[in-house]
Amino acid sequence: MSTSKPQPLHPGPKRKVCPVCGEYSYSRGGVHPQCSVRQADEKRMQRLKREQASKAPAKPAVDVKPWQKICPKCKNLIHIRKQVCVCGHQNAAATASRRQAKS
Ligand SMILES: [Zn+2]
Ligand SMILES: [Zn+2]
Repeated sequence: MSTSKPQPLHPGPKRKVCPVCGEYSYSRGGVHPQCSVRQADEKRMQRLKREQASKAPAKPAVDVKPWQKICPKCKNLIHIRKQVCVCGHQNAAATASRRQAKS
């Protein structure tokens, strides 16, 4: 006796998964109403962030060149290799690193 099993006509109730929270949703669109609101809000927030990022100046107020640094005392731009500023401020960290690099 051989029985050919027929393909199941109804593999199960089709339940949509909400793309926002990943939970099963029985609502018509497959997205929870509160999730669609959240998704829309996230998109809005991302857009606002992008707008703010494009508006905000990426550069610091002072344009510091790679060979320049700002003196912590007088805030003047000084050459990176100058260990003593015109105001007399001595950059101890730079002096130490230079000594380590030489040895
Ligand atoms: Zn959801
Ligand atoms: Zn200085």
